[in-house]
Amino acid sequence: MEEVIEISNTIYQEIMEEGKKQLPYEACGLISGHYNKAQSFWPLVNEIRSRNKFFVSKKIVQQKIQDILNTREQLLAIFHTHPTTAAIPSSYDLRNHPDANIDMVIVSYKFDSPQLKWYKIDQSGYKNISWLLPS
Ligand SMILES: [Zn+2]
Repeated sequence: MEEVIEISNTIYQEIMEEGKKQLPYEACGLISGHYNKAQSFWPLVNEIRSRNKFFVSKKIVQQKIQDILNTREQLLAIFHTHPTTAAIPSSYDLRNHPDANIDMVIVSYKFDSPQLKWYKIDQSGYKNISWLLPS
């Protein structure tokens, strides 16, 4: 059966608002939850304030991951935005993705309505994963 990720309505709103707030720069953060349920969003500061890249110090990421583990959730995905381009991983994104067990979420603001894409990443590239909001 095909895997489908369920994103809670609350964090979907939080993610979209954070992305919009950081425009014209890329926003970034972590998404945690259980298995295929995304339940918490943890915004991070993009230290390079770039329109096409993001960077967060390793120490800050590790602290945030510890905060997530303390809530007994799992780190599911790393989130970032593409302020002006499509929601497709760049070669920079793929090169810098730290761990194939963690997914990649990209929100694009290229068009009027923002678009969220959820990807699995491996050596051969990326795979689009379906997601939905619980009704
Ligand atoms: Zn990117």
